[in-house]
Amino acid sequence: MSRRFYLPQAFDVPRLVLEGAEAHHLLHVLRLGVGQDVILFDGRGIEALARIESVSQSTAELQIQELRTAATETPVPIILGTAVPKGDRFGWLVEKATELGVARLVPLNTQRSIVEPGAGKLEKMRQTVVAASKQSGRSRLMEIGAPTSWREFVEREFSEGDAFIAHPSGELLDQKFVAPARPIVVAIGPEGGFTEAEVAFACEHGGKLVCLGPRVLRIETAALVMAAFFDQCQTGK
Ligand code: SAH
Repeated sequence: MSRRFYLPQAFDVPRLVLEGAEAHHLLHVLRLGVGQDVILFDGRGIEALARIESVSQSTAELQIQELRTAATETPVPIILGTAVPKGDRFGWLVEKATELGVARLVPLNTQRSIVEPGAGKLEKMRQTVVAASKQSGRSRLMEIGAPTSWREFVEREFSEGDAFIAHPSGELLDQKFVAPARPIVVAIGPEGGFTEAEVAFACEHGGKLVCLGPRVLRIETAALVMAAFFDQCQTGK
């Protein structure tokens, strides 16, 4: 049972009040009461152990016991640029990317992209991030960037770290490509694949093409294989 609650504010105060959906979850779903302990997280990597001091029908007053820094973030950030799969598959991708520690997800507009998420969809995805963070023990929220063109993503993000583009003609993904302490940028194309010009542009900017095996994976499967691989590479480093 997760007793984690998202409260985007500073915790360096003696007590604070939980309201709205999070209070509802505490009071009426988990049915917690006075004297019980919960974990608060601020979405930026800070957690607090807090005790329920008093409750009303729709709010809970909490007393801060102890502040902690989250131990669940990857040592260096993983940035995931991905074409957007159709329908619920995007929500699934967002949930799993959050669980796997991705720092920032950027929806990509590529030449063969067919889905561009609107503001409503992106807002829903941010709620999915909060729910997945509560469940998985993350205290820093995965950011969801604005939809970005391939050109802009490559120019802006590839200089931030080592960039890997999932592409069937690349070399099989291998741990030997991973340098310690360098942020990782990952890119996944649309169901129609990246165009040759897009691949060439990425390579000119220092990106490395990597293959994920002999089968054609869906966008979200490829994204998760990459996220899980780089998350695992960092574990213990
Ligand atoms: N027909 C397309 C397949 C697109 S699958 C093509 O030939 O490229 C959607 C995206 O998932 C691809 O653009 C790629 O980024 C990734 N992907 C799927 N299967 C892959 C594999 N076996 N190796 C590397 N990347 C893969």
